[in-house]
Amino acid sequence: MMKVSRRTVLKVVGFGTLAISFLPRVAFAARGKLKSLRTGLQPGNKTRLVIETSAKPSYNLSYSENKLIVGIANTVADNSIKPQMASGTLIKSLTQTQIGDRLNITANLTKSIGEIPKSQIMLLQPNGDNDYRLVLDFVAGSSAAVATTTAATKQKTSTKKYVIVIDAGHGGKDPGCIGRNGTKEKKIVLSVAKKLKTKLDAAGFKTYLTRSNDVFLNLDTRASIAEKHHADLFLSLHANANPSRAMKGFSIYTLSKKASDEEARKLAEAENASDKIDVDGFERFSADIRNALSALQQQAVAEMSVEYATNCAKIIVKSGIQKQSGPYVRHAPFAVLRSTIPGALIELGHLSNSSEERLLNTDYHQDRLANAILKSIKEYDFEV
Ligand SMILES: [Zn+2]
Repeated sequence: MMKVSRRTVLKVVGFGTLAISFLPRVAFAARGKLKSLRTGLQPGNKTRLVIETSAKPSYNLSYSENKLIVGIANTVADNSIKPQMASGTLIKSLTQTQIGDRLNITANLTKSIGEIPKSQIMLLQPNGDNDYRLVLDFVAGSSAAVATTTAATKQKTSTKKYVIVIDAGHGGKDPGCIGRNGTKEKKIVLSVAKKLKTKLDAAGFKTYLTRSNDVFLNLDTRASIAEKHHADLFLSLHANANPSRAMKGFSIYTLSKKASDEEARKLAEAENASDKIDVDGFERFSADIRNALSALQQQAVAEMSVEYATNCAKIIVKSGIQKQSGPYVRHAPFAVLRSTIPGALIELGHLSNSSEERLLNTDYHQDRLANAILKSIKEYDFEV
């Protein structure tokens, strides 16, 4: 009955927008459905609320004593959904209230919170098994007290198979960097990528390699492979070279339009030059990132990438592998990274340094790198 009348209403509306004002508000068919509700504890003791909906949510937030109310337009409540509640968060309970075509999610809090700053709100596109997710992070007290990200224990609340795409840089006619003793970057990174895939598959991830043999792929194709598989995380593996033979250590980069420093800019330029061997994928890439996601969504992906990369760098250091001096994570416009998929580019070490070139050729060191990256992926919080 309900379905028939909804269809009738929609048909009438289709004949002219004027009809809308004469229809009772309750007669509108809500477009979105609530899919899931979950809470989590994030680094810095942040409480995370995730609201998953079948359609892109149009939302507003209101606050009252010990309550946060998230109003989502054109969305239907589903009281069969049991919120997944993590322990130790500020949220005691979550309730749903349908008001006309609007769904209100009320988070009952143990303490009052201030207005959630924009930087702590993310709207994520569907990926893998997830639909649209509105992600809100907050702490008790005023918004100014929002803590910065630090490494902390993550809570895994799901047994979903996450999709990881590992990109071994260069290949075929593009050798990448060449070490003092002739080691080719393309060979080292493929070997580490294969080891990492074996470990990730064994750990229950769904892993794809952009290349599994010595072939040339342009940067656009590599990124497209990640998009095609709806990757939850994309890692591009490289090894670098520096005019200074003394320069040593690994380094990790995430995507940004502007480089964080001159060295990162030069590195991105060198890695992006791979495409000059074939077609120029960078122009297409630039257009893609402008159109693919809203600024806020791109910001969310950027934040997730930095969160992943920072922890990854810390784990590699902890495993006893030398880091290049400087910050844990730097940023630059790498053409292989996309603003739509959380990810990072890892320079595994310097082939221009003789001792590091020797190390990078050993199974022992390659395994150590792959194990550290595996651990960083296991610790990464996919649950948003
Ligand atoms: Zn490279």
